[in-house]
Amino acid sequence: MKTENNLITGLTRDCRAYVELLAYAEQAAEEGLSSLSRLFFAASKARKVYAESYLSALNGITSSSDNLQRAIAHEIVEADELYPQFIETAKKEQMPEVLRTFMLARSAKRKNIHLFEAAVDELGRETPADYYVCQVCGYLYKGHEPIDCPICGKGPQTMERV
Ligand SMILES: [Zn+2]
Repeated sequence: MKTENNLITGLTRDCRAYVELLAYAEQAAEEGLSSLSRLFFAASKARKVYAESYLSALNGITSSSDNLQRAIAHEIVEADELYPQFIETAKKEQMPEVLRTFMLARSAKRKNIHLFEAAVDELGRETPADYYVCQVCGYLYKGHEPIDCPICGKGPQTMERV
């Protein structure tokens, strides 16, 4: 159906715009342009509203059990199929910085799968936990205090508590 494709296109575009507008907001704030920063931030929130609406229309949000399985499947496809292709292409095209970014992301995604799998096992009887995300490679960590990142090797200061 065309509408389904339009929802997918809208979701893709609004997810990208959400991230871009947040980055624009941070840049504007760094430049001391607080009003412009708030405008970009507000616009990012609007994009999030659209994206969530389109995702819901696509039946992309169901039970937490289903959502966990979907999250695991996405991470596996990206870590085992998509990113290896990205890495090969970046090697061939001699783009070392992009290659490093893809390699770190692939490694982090592979490790992050275990957190989702553990959440499947703990579903319905979970204990309170803190999560951290490495701001360099996206590695997720469950614990009580930040650690050195086992993927990119950066110190605990790169771990953001969420
Ligand atoms: Zn890292």
